[in-house]
Amino acid sequence: MGVFEAPSNLTGHEEVVFCQDKASGLRAIIAIYSTALGPALGGTRFYPYASEADAIHDALDLSKGMAYKNALAGLDLGGGKAVIWGDPDTDKSEALLRAYGRFVESLGGRYITACDVGTYVSDMDIVAKESRHVTGRSEENGGAGDSSVLTAFGVYSGMRAAAEHKWGTPSLKGRTVGVAGIGKVGRHLVGHLVEDGATVVATDISERAHDWLKENRPEASFVGSTKELIASDIDVYAPCALGGALNDESVGMLRASVVVGAANNQLAHPGVEKLLAERGILYAPDYLVNSGGVIQVADEIGGFNFARAKRRASHIFDITRDILRTADTEAIPPALAADRIAERRMADCGRLRSIYLAH
Ligand code: NAD
Repeated sequence: MGVFEAPSNLTGHEEVVFCQDKASGLRAIIAIYSTALGPALGGTRFYPYASEADAIHDALDLSKGMAYKNALAGLDLGGGKAVIWGDPDTDKSEALLRAYGRFVESLGGRYITACDVGTYVSDMDIVAKESRHVTGRSEENGGAGDSSVLTAFGVYSGMRAAAEHKWGTPSLKGRTVGVAGIGKVGRHLVGHLVEDGATVVATDISERAHDWLKENRPEASFVGSTKELIASDIDVYAPCALGGALNDESVGMLRASVVVGAANNQLAHPGVEKLLAERGILYAPDYLVNSGGVIQVADEIGGFNFARAKRRASHIFDITRDILRTADTEAIPPALAADRIAERRMADCGRLRSIYLAH
């Protein structure tokens, strides 16, 4: 797939940079969707894509998602994302990460990177040896550390707002929540839910995740597959694994009446949001409720303060409540309401750059 011939939902990007360092094996794509609100912030995904077209598609899709996420979160940041094409388990090296850091630096701050699938805080510490435009570094290096802490807190806050909208009370006490994916975010989320008095049913493909749950959250039960989870008697479904969790089949089977989860790009294709609405399932848009992590790492730019970042992430409750109400008032799916608000902020505030400032 050529960048200029990408499907229409993937076009409109400002800049796409292909980076190569043959000696270290680096092959990366940095996609900047928009800098209307500020430098483009978004993580680096290290993934063994089946093809170059898949890598380009992911970079274009994810960078656009970041622009909307950052706009809706009220951050003065645009949206970008990078992908490194390779297997993080076998291809990652200091030289490769530093080569990548030099390409990030070469963009002069138009793109600020962070962690994503396949990259970790320790990797960002290495990338930061070559670039000033890195977040998600370790706390000992002045970074915000593991972003899953506030991602989970934000998802929980969004879930409380959705519960209030659906049932009139934000508490999850007495509700059954199905969490698919007990990874970094899922584990923190299960903690919030159990402490709130919810019954948690979880699933994960990893035996390690199962063991973690048994040992750390014995109150939660475990089922063998996501299919089993969504077909069970749950009130809330929280997709916290990979994208595409909401498709024609899963939405058709779903017994939950609320969906709020951490995974990016949960809607498998355009139109699934309408299917959810038709079935009376309240869906809080993924990029709205999972913005706690980017709020956490964005705080690193001016010197990290966890309390300030958490306060900011707690606003996800209010924004979710507003969007669900707007969706009802305008009789549109919440995903569309969220898109419109993000687009309006990018247009309204981005336009102000046209007022000339002499500096
Ligand atoms: P992670 O890799 O730590 O955890 C993902 C978990 O999902 C793993 O335990 C994995 O075994 C499990 N999994 C994978 N495929 C599965 C399947 N088919 N069924 C059930 N379980 C499956 O990732 P994470 O950091 O916890 O992120 C989870 C999701 O949230 C991802 O989609 C990520 O993009 C998104 N997200 C994460 C953050 C963050 O700060 N970490 C921020 C925003 C969005």
